[in-house]
Amino acid sequence: MKRRQLLKYASLSSLAGVSLPLLPGTVKAGEVSTFAKRDLFAELGIRTFINAAGTYTAMTASLMRPEAMDAIRQASHKFCMLDELQDKVGERIASMTHAEAAVVTSGAFAALTLGMAGILTGMDPVKVKSLPKLEGTGMKMEVICQKAHAIGYNQALTNTGVKVIMIETREELIKAINKNTAAMHFLHINADRGQIQHEEWVEIGKKYGIPTTIDIAADVPPVSNLWRFNDMGFHFVAISGGKALRGPQSAGILMGKKEVIAAARLSMPPRGETIGRGMKVNKEEVLGMYVALESFMAIDHDEEYKMFQKRIDKIKSAVDQVSGITTVVNHPKLGNVTPTLNITWDATKIKKDGNQLREDLRKGDPSIEVVGGKDNLSVTTWSLQEGEDKIVAARLKEVLMAASV
Ligand SMILES: *Cc1c(COP(=O)(O)O)cnc(C)c1O
Repeated sequence: MKRRQLLKYASLSSLAGVSLPLLPGTVKAGEVSTFAKRDLFAELGIRTFINAAGTYTAMTASLMRPEAMDAIRQASHKFCMLDELQDKVGERIASMTHAEAAVVTSGAFAALTLGMAGILTGMDPVKVKSLPKLEGTGMKMEVICQKAHAIGYNQALTNTGVKVIMIETREELIKAINKNTAAMHFLHINADRGQIQHEEWVEIGKKYGIPTTIDIAADVPPVSNLWRFNDMGFHFVAISGGKALRGPQSAGILMGKKEVIAAARLSMPPRGETIGRGMKVNKEEVLGMYVALESFMAIDHDEEYKMFQKRIDKIKSAVDQVSGITTVVNHPKLGNVTPTLNITWDATKIKKDGNQLREDLRKGDPSIEVVGGKDNLSVTTWSLQEGEDKIVAARLKEVLMAASV
């Protein structure tokens, strides 16, 4: 690079107050990091924010535990065989979760697809290669699920080629079971909206020889959900790694019966010519997931819940000072189990709607994300960093005051 260019680059860099991307030809080949003090978010002009919303995929879900990051860094220095890594980590995760076997997947969605693939193909390599084509292969083609459990994530199942058959009552379920039924799928977070509960679901599956499967993606805490459904006898259980477990966002766990997990792995990397070849998990994330799970299990969850509650109370009491506001703290029971503050208002006293209020929070400094609809704001504290509850409390009050008539 010419001296003049270098000087220009240096002054640009200090003007911007951030370091700029490295220029070609300025770094020697080797293993010494040139990362130094870069702030990539600032460099790229990406808005970062305080997350008072929750573990939303679009908001990058959660912050990884420091131990998970240490595991990722350590893993990045060595090579190993991907299958051996998954074997050994899987054994440990299985024993922690009372499962016969387990494997780290690229999220709960991938766990659902791969688990279903395993049920369909068994250990038959011809069937593995054939997915998502089922017709004429001898594979079963139908998955039964309760109408109240049929959410968009069922796409993870239909990606294998199966069709979802919806039922509502026990009688309808039994009538729907036929020689083409591959599995019976359950969605834990909607358990209270369906007529058939977990135990009955598994019992009917056993009686008719149909494998039962369950999605618990966002459903820890309680920590016991990690083993509860394995103990019940579901053939596979799928959970997200990047939500409350605070592992890598693009990781999750598929756990369950030995033969299902072994068959699911036939559709996973390093094997190609499979529907799962693109659902790769690198060694860093496999180990990051493992360590995040360990840490999650070691936490005092009562203590943590009390901390989230204390932060919610602080935000609630600030917001309660604004006239015309109603606040309620909810405690979800099935999934996203964390104190959740619902804020509503008298529209004659607050002249903005939910979208406008969220935009005001977003535009502030620091930027804050909450969720909700046109008529409410919904706030959680489980993704807050130390001291951020105070900022969220003050800003919410300020934004609501400013919108007061
Ligand atoms: C988040 C979620 C998923 C997807 O999980 P990923 O880990 O993001 O793949 C699937 N099912 C339910 C119910 C979820 O909440």
